[in-house]
Amino acid sequence: MTKVIYPGQTIGIIGGGQLGRMMALAAKEAGFKIAVLDPTIDSPCGQVADIQIVAPYNDETALEELAEVSDVITYEFENIDYAGLKRLSEIAYVPQGAELVRITQNRILEKAEIRSAGVPVAKYVEATTYEELEQRIDEVGFPCVVKTSRGGYDGKGQQIIQTKDQITLAKSLFDHSACIAEAFVPFTKEISVIVQRNGDGQTYCLPIGENIHVNHILHETIVPARIEESLTAKAIEAAEKIANHLNLIGTLAVEMFVLENNELLINELAPRPHNSGHYSIETCSISQFHQHVRAICGWPLREPKLWTETVMVNILGQHVIPVTNSLSKHPNWSVHLYGKNEAKENRKMGHVTILSTDIEQTLNEIEESKIW
Ligand code: AMP
Repeated sequence: MTKVIYPGQTIGIIGGGQLGRMMALAAKEAGFKIAVLDPTIDSPCGQVADIQIVAPYNDETALEELAEVSDVITYEFENIDYAGLKRLSEIAYVPQGAELVRITQNRILEKAEIRSAGVPVAKYVEATTYEELEQRIDEVGFPCVVKTSRGGYDGKGQQIIQTKDQITLAKSLFDHSACIAEAFVPFTKEISVIVQRNGDGQTYCLPIGENIHVNHILHETIVPARIEESLTAKAIEAAEKIANHLNLIGTLAVEMFVLENNELLINELAPRPHNSGHYSIETCSISQFHQHVRAICGWPLREPKLWTETVMVNILGQHVIPVTNSLSKHPNWSVHLYGKNEAKENRKMGHVTILSTDIEQTLNEIEESKIW
């Protein structure tokens, strides 16, 4: 029997960023209390939480304190200390477990799991050392992308290698961790499927998002993705296969490449709500954050329905002032700002969701605003 967590009880969140904040706001609607662990005071989630524990994520005493005040614990990012989370799961209720974090914080393990779920990834080789990379890189051919197995995000910890003589460009990546070299994928689109599952195995995917990246950072998500119906079905099937294989409880974002021949390759997984699912707050019958809370609290899930087409655009540090200055011109823009105190260049500060009746027209409106 799945344990049920009721309103009035406390959800503990490891990580105080925007994903934690939006999770907390969704949970508070239903009367849950929120405790958050983050190294900074008044983090985006801390600002809306009932209890703030300010300490490093792997601080033993802080984790014990979180366990003490929480009836259920979740996390908003995957680069938390696996051993700490595992210990926590022994003294507190962590329905998502620690295993998914162990897998998704290591590209090598993650790719192996995706393949054993029967879903394809781009051809790759593993290399523990730079010398091993030199020996093995020809097996994937050129161009290829060398990626650290740990800790990369938004294109950090990656290097494109066009020809063998450029291989030295990848040398410094090994200072960080073992690496993989992955064939460069000539994708026509990038899409993401956010799959959510509760302890009873009830599983739903959000409508598929089409993701446009600029400088490796997500810029826009267009929903529904402009792909053929048969591909939509294939993408959902792949995401559900992975979710079932991993015995998912909670949320898994599955990033995929679409190839010219309408085949799919999985790029990577994130075991949490995802930037490309923010649109669901306004545009779906259930948001990714509400569904996540339902899943970890042992509630039945709701089938997500898309009310209308939509475009989500990220607000990075350099976009905050132009967006706020143009609010009066765009009554149809839902502006979300995460309460971060410093608007650094390329830092994710917020997002805008635009409910659309014509995607092309909405994309034009975004372009004509000259903010991005
Ligand atoms: P990742 O951190 O692996 O999600 O990579 C960030 C972005 O780099 C992806 O969203 C793609 O746009 C691009 N990218 C990553 N891997 C590949 C690849 N094998 N081939 C082509 N582009 C890639």
